[in-house]
Amino acid sequence: MNGHVKITVLAGGVGGARFLRGLRTHLRTRYPNGDGGSTAEITAVVNTGDDMWLTGLRVCPDLDSIMYTLGGANDDERGWGRKDESERVSAELTAYGIGWPWFTLGDLDLGTHIARSAFLRDGLTLTEATARLAERWNPGVRLLPMSDQPVETHVDIQVDGKRRIVHFEEWWVKHRATVPAQRFIQVGVDAARPSPAVLQAIAQADVILVAPSNPVVSIGTILGVPTLRQALLAARAPIVGVSPIIAGAAVRGMADACLTAIGVETTAVAVGKHYGARHRGGILDAWLVDETDAASVPVLEAAGLRAHAVPLWMRDPATSAQLAADALAAAIA
Ligand code: GDP
Ligand code: CA
Repeated sequence: MNGHVKITVLAGGVGGARFLRGLRTHLRTRYPNGDGGSTAEITAVVNTGDDMWLTGLRVCPDLDSIMYTLGGANDDERGWGRKDESERVSAELTAYGIGWPWFTLGDLDLGTHIARSAFLRDGLTLTEATARLAERWNPGVRLLPMSDQPVETHVDIQVDGKRRIVHFEEWWVKHRATVPAQRFIQVGVDAARPSPAVLQAIAQADVILVAPSNPVVSIGTILGVPTLRQALLAARAPIVGVSPIIAGAAVRGMADACLTAIGVETTAVAVGKHYGARHRGGILDAWLVDETDAASVPVLEAAGLRAHAVPLWMRDPATSAQLAADALAAAIA
């Protein structure tokens, strides 16, 4: 691929952030400045289903995970939030009895939410507010919320014999996804549309990648935005997905609990089939599974999905960059 290459990535939080960091590393090596004029541009279409108003502030967990990771400010040990964080304000909020005591908002992180909320109050769209926040972090990736309209994932659960509908983060963080989910509800989805920037990023892309993110509450939420799926079907770019499931397990986190709730097995084959081949109305032209899942390649191909087995563990910058390179190679294979 030469000239100016446009790559669009559908992404959730942590898996999305690691993948985007690897893609950025790979492209910087492949197209160093001055290399025959070839350049590459990455746009991330990010899940906003985990967003919420908390303590009067708009919190966007997946956008922030990506922004902090690409900006070098992520707490890599914990996996989320800012490094060198403190929690003085959070203790004050708890003393006033507001917020969710189980959902920590660090002091530095609160700065982001205050700035975002100020931009939104000034009338900026979430897309514009995200761009303003990202200016400071120089992420090297254009960050686009999947929609400017709020869409919040809620979960239908049973707690102590009572049916409750809670925000996704309550199920995920407070209950650690141990209470079985009956179903996921995308509150506000009917009124939501992909932003013009998202539609353009899909239509004009040379390659579209689906990051190894949660297939249900990250990628599934993005695909649930009305007309977004059709935009992918109509895109001229090849679409390559990377499995977030390796050897029958979610690599980091609890994605299996989400898959179980929608009746999809926690295997790379089942998730690949769930996304489906584009020529059969799905969203994928190719699907990457881990090398330990190589036996599933013929099974997927029999289901009409081109599949490749490559190492999918993003252990460090080098393995993440290699995974990005393999995904791009699959796009032109
Ligand atoms: P969240 O929004 O923070 O939950 O993050 P994402 O939706 O982006 O992705 C979470 C999923 O990424 C996890 O459930 C894993 O299945 C997947 N994941 C995390 N690390 C890796 C990795 O190193 N390799 C692969 N293939 N998948 C990963
Ligand atoms: Ca998330």
